[in-house]
Amino acid sequence: MKHYTKEELELYRHGQMSVLGRINCATHLEACEECRNLLEELKSDDDFMKELRSSLMLYESVAKESERHPQKLPNHHTTVR
Ligand SMILES: [Zn+2]
Repeated sequence: MKHYTKEELELYRHGQMSVLGRINCATHLEACEECRNLLEELKSDDDFMKELRSSLMLYESVAKESERHPQKLPNHHTTVR
């Protein structure tokens, strides 16, 4: 049985394969645990990257925000009596 490479599975998962190629790949994945595991691995890499990127973006937006309003800290409730 011919196995799929990471590169091929990348194409598959991003829908960049021909229809026939996708059908063949899906059929193979049904039968082949090895390739399924590889596909899962690619997906978890993705999730990791997404998480990393979103936490980086959050960090950047917080950093930008505090740069723009350096003394806009909520201190109003200390003056309310
Ligand atoms: Zn396989």
